[in-house]
Amino acid sequence: MSTVNSYAAYQAKEALKPYQFERREPGPHDVMIDIHYCGVCHSDLHQVRDEWGGATFPMVPGHEIVGKVSQVGSRVKKFKVGDSVGVGCMVDSCQECASCGEGLEQYCEKGFVGTYNSKERDGKTPTQGGYSTKIVVKEDFVLKISPRLPLDKAAPLLCAGITTYSPLRHWKVGPGSKVAVMGLGGLGHMAVKLAAAMGAEVTVISSSNKKKEDAHRLGATHYVLGSEDETFKKYNRYFDLIINTVSASLDLNRFLGLVKRDGAMVLLGIPERPEPIHPFPLVMGRRSLAGSLIGGIKETQEMLDFCAEKGVASDIELIPVQKINEAYERMLKGDVRYRFVIDIASLK
Ligand code: NAP
Ligand code: ZN
Repeated sequence: MSTVNSYAAYQAKEALKPYQFERREPGPHDVMIDIHYCGVCHSDLHQVRDEWGGATFPMVPGHEIVGKVSQVGSRVKKFKVGDSVGVGCMVDSCQECASCGEGLEQYCEKGFVGTYNSKERDGKTPTQGGYSTKIVVKEDFVLKISPRLPLDKAAPLLCAGITTYSPLRHWKVGPGSKVAVMGLGGLGHMAVKLAAAMGAEVTVISSSNKKKEDAHRLGATHYVLGSEDETFKKYNRYFDLIINTVSASLDLNRFLGLVKRDGAMVLLGIPERPEPIHPFPLVMGRRSLAGSLIGGIKETQEMLDFCAEKGVASDIELIPVQKINEAYERMLKGDVRYRFVIDIASLK
C-alpha cells in the first residue's frame, strides 16, 4: 500500500480539508500514476454537497487527472514508467455487457466504477479521486496524452473535453452545422472550441454579457443572452444542435424553440432539481431532447488525439489545493475563466 496526501470532504456541504489514505499496490494490469494536475469540475461540487444523493464520505473528488506513470503491473502492455497519461470519470466497468463491448463503458449495464464517490467492482472499497498525489488504475481505463499537449491545460479534457466532444460527434457536427452552447463554463468553453474545430458555426447563449469577448476568442461567431426576448426572435428554429451545459435549473421550454425541425437539445448539465418540460416545443418541429454522459475510453483517446492535432486545450486558472474551497465559491458564481486546475505539487 502507498499512503497519499489529498484533500477531502469529510461531510456533505463542509469545506474540504487535508486527508491521508492508502492506494493499493498495482496489480498485474494496473498502472500507478504520479498526479501532476487535476481539473475542478462542477460535478465535484454537486457531489461534495450531495446534491445528487447517495454521496459517501470522506470523499476525495477529482476526475480530470493527468500525470506520469510511476509504476506498471507485470502484464501492463500499453504504458511504461514516465509516460504522460490521464484518467477521467471512470476507473472500471464490467467489460462484458453490450455497451462495454461497443466501447461505451459510461453506459455499462452493470454500472461503471466512478473515479470517486463510487465503489470498486468488489462492491466495498470506496474509490477516491484526483485531488491526491497518486492513483492506481487498471490500464484499460488510462489514456495516453500526447507530448504536444501541455499537461495542465490537458487535464480538463478528461471530463469537460470528452463530455462535449461525444455529443458533437454523435449528432454529426461538422462544417455547415449551427451549434449553440448554453453556459460558458468549463464544459461550455470546451464545447465552443471543439465545435469550432469541427467546422461548425457556434453561438454562445450566456446568462450575462461578461464573457462576450472571450466567447469570440474561443471560436464563437455569435453571443446572445438567454434572458433577452430578442434572442428568441432572431434565432427562432435556427440551431441543428444545442449543447446545454448549464449547472442550474432553467425553463428549457423556451430554449427548445431555438432548435430547427428534427434538431436536438442535449442536456449535459445535471442540476439538483428538475424543471418541467411541455410536449409542445418538442411536438412542434419533431425536436429531440436528449442527454449524454461523458464518453467511452476509445472515444476519449480519439478526443485527446484530435485536440493534440488541432492544438485545442483548456483555458485554465492554476490553483494550489489550499484554494479549493474558494474556487468552489467562485465556480458557483460563474467566475472562472474557464477551468480551475489544481497544481498537485501543492499537496506534496
Ligand atoms: P461550470 O464551469 O460551473 O459552468 C456552468 C455554466 O452554466 C456557468 O459558467 C454559467 O455560464 C452557466 N450557469 C450557471 N448557473 C446558471 C444559472 N442559474 N442560470 C443560467 N446559467 C447558469 O460547470 P461545468 O463544470 O461546466 O459543468 C456544467 C454542468 O455539467 C454541471 O451540472 C455538471 O455536473 C455537469 N456535467 C455533466 C457531465 C455529463 O457527463 N453529462 C459531465 C461533467 C459535468 P454563463 O456565465 O455563460 O451563463
Ligand atoms: Zn466532470
